[in-house]
Amino acid sequence: MDLFNLKDDSDKVSFAAAVKKGLGKNQGLYFPKSFPKFDDINELLDKPFVERSVEILTSLIGEELPEETLRNIVERAFVFSAPLVKVMDNVYSLELYHGPTLAFKDFGGRFMAQCLSEIAKGEPITILTATSGDTGAAVAHAFHGIDNINVVILYPKGKISLLQEKLFTTLGDNIHTVSIDDDFDACQQLVKTAFDDPDVREGLHLNSANSINVSRLLAQVCYYFEAIAQLPVEKRHDVLVSVPSGNFGNLTAGMIAKVMGLPIEHFIAATNSNDTVPRYLKTGEWNPNPTVATLSNAMDVSQPNNWPRIEAMIDRGLLDKSILSGDSVDEEYTQVAMRQLAQNGYVSEPHAAIAYKALMRELKEDQIGIFLGTAHPAKFRESVENVLGQPISLPQPLADCAGKEILSAELPSDYEALKQHLFATLQGE
Ligand SMILES: *Cc1c(COP(=O)(O)O)cnc(C)c1O
Repeated sequence: MDLFNLKDDSDKVSFAAAVKKGLGKNQGLYFPKSFPKFDDINELLDKPFVERSVEILTSLIGEELPEETLRNIVERAFVFSAPLVKVMDNVYSLELYHGPTLAFKDFGGRFMAQCLSEIAKGEPITILTATSGDTGAAVAHAFHGIDNINVVILYPKGKISLLQEKLFTTLGDNIHTVSIDDDFDACQQLVKTAFDDPDVREGLHLNSANSINVSRLLAQVCYYFEAIAQLPVEKRHDVLVSVPSGNFGNLTAGMIAKVMGLPIEHFIAATNSNDTVPRYLKTGEWNPNPTVATLSNAMDVSQPNNWPRIEAMIDRGLLDKSILSGDSVDEEYTQVAMRQLAQNGYVSEPHAAIAYKALMRELKEDQIGIFLGTAHPAKFRESVENVLGQPISLPQPLADCAGKEILSAELPSDYEALKQHLFATLQGE
């Protein structure tokens, strides 16, 4: 697989290098030079999820990873399903939250972890990252128990919910968590300082494993195929897909699936009030506003970092611009949508509800609509219970960790203290 840097065509890398480096020169995103296209889609869609995903990923990645290796990676990464659940006539939810941390980020995170472990070939790596909640959990679970990879996660003390904290601080083994007596920005700053410090960067073989890693996108392509595969053949010709979007990785993956021949007629980029992209699609002007806090907090992003990849697909003529529209759903309509879904017997959370609302504003009578369910309602228990006025029960992974002990170290917001802690924890082994 050949990839190039969207900010510098001459920066070309293999899949392995793109996975290891994450970002290219000048903070540029890596993007595939070309995409394979499937001729007989229905034959591909007939295959089981894992089998089909191996085929899709082999066609994308090519000979760099032998098919057998890729099969092992996929079998370890995709250990949960992505059911397409009928919500009402012609409207379906693709539930992507049946993994260990109850959000779609488990797909990309687990695939990235397995790829990195394969590509590093036993050379030691330290993943250092800061989290405001969800990403940390997905990364921690994805890397838990992988040999030669240590994970250090910083998070702001007392600023995430107890349940969220328990989800990634109770694992132990190669997962090291540190609560920092400050806010999320301070945690992120500590991570940046560590990456700029050659002692730590080289001494501990730092890697960021962040959300712009191309391996995540490739993994996410697979569940769009899984969505269409669950529709009867006669319903596959006029499908609209609505994607609740923050950094736009999820939507990028869907559009790649379309380039590869998957029949999706139209995509909707559904956002909350952080509506940079819907405004851009309407006016042609890129004018990010300051980020505002919403119920769908995983989408509180006003400068989405995957957008250049979508722009590249359109600019290079891989897809026509008309395939995508944008819509922003405010706080009031987010709640209205959650209640409407509940009246149809479907309990949802704010992110999926936004995608549902945007879908219903565009869906025509003869079309099939799919909205992506990106998180389990229990992950946003408080707001769901407030809006719907009914209790939500805890799914198994949350219930399991609720009783476990938090294993985090506590540190002040001070780089020297962190540095000392890193060496003491990681080199003492
Ligand atoms: C991360 C996240 C999103 C946004 O996905 P992007 O790929 O960043 O657009 C949406 N919903 C939930 C629940 C998330 O955790």
